[in-house]
Amino acid sequence: ELEVAIKVVIVGNGAVGKSSMIQRYCKGTFTKDYKKTIGVDFLERQIELDGEEVRLMLWDTAGQEEFDAITKAYYRGAQACVLAFSTTDRDSFEAAHSWKMKVEDECGEIPTVLVQNKIDLLDQSVVDPEEADLLARALGCRLLRTSVKEDINVNSVFRHLAACCLAELHLQE
Ligand code: GDP
Ligand code: MG
Repeated sequence: ELEVAIKVVIVGNGAVGKSSMIQRYCKGTFTKDYKKTIGVDFLERQIELDGEEVRLMLWDTAGQEEFDAITKAYYRGAQACVLAFSTTDRDSFEAAHSWKMKVEDECGEIPTVLVQNKIDLLDQSVVDPEEADLLARALGCRLLRTSVKEDINVNSVFRHLAACCLAELHLQE
């Protein structure tokens, strides 16, 4: 049986928790301050979904997102996308739409989840829940609220994307 491998890109402004999310999901760890880059192109994790083995390759940026200099190589062949913003960073919320457009320019329409990270900091929130729901609807993707720090909902993000990709693959069969 063929193993399914899915390249997932994680986009969003700097400091929203992208590297932390990859680290959390693939290594089960969280740190307050590690190096800005994880030093490799991607980390991976294999999961089982409906009896199928799925290998998720989560691609990290090396902090280039701050300079708007993410290269085409980063997006090339991506089959799914995590569009992340932070509960405590208004700019990151407002930038989500343009991140979606960038991914679409390079990859076309691929399964995408809008992720509101750092919900452990809801008391410092600068984004109304309704606004986030509206944005998700406007972008045509599901919204998931996560805390990478507290390990809330991180698995759901990737299971959802894997399920969407598998469904598309089976439609093509
Ligand atoms: P990136 O630039 O998007 O890759 O963001 P990082 O993963 O480097 O995270 C930026 C900072 O936010 C780091 O200090 C993380 O420890 C912190 N961080 C990431 N996720 C969470 C979270 O869910 N809650 C809180 N409180 N901090 C987080
Ligand atoms: Mg990073």
